[in-house]
Amino acid sequence: MSNICNQQCLFCSHDNSCVMDDNWLDAGLFNKMKWLKYVSHICLSSRSGERLLNPHFPQIADIVRRIAQYSHIDAFTNGLALREKLGRYRRQL
Ligand code: SF4
Repeated sequence: MSNICNQQCLFCSHDNSCVMDDNWLDAGLFNKMKWLKYVSHICLSSRSGERLLNPHFPQIADIVRRIAQYSHIDAFTNGLALREKLGRYRRQL
């Protein structure tokens, strides 16, 4: 989902200084993954990095839900980007 993170947890091996470019998985890639409908549990996470920093995350979640209608879908997050996005959403109301 993302190769960068907005946190620096002491226990984590993720190191933003090793990342050359922000690298996002593109939503179009998931449109091709028709086989996802056969997967029972889908975790929209990467080994390290914060998935909510991926600007395509909402579209990716929608695509995966459309393809894998009966699968369990989850994503781990540290929540920092969510708080910022919720604040922006609240200001729009
Ligand atoms: S990837 Fe997760 S554990 Fe690692 S620094 Fe980011 S928030 Fe912390």
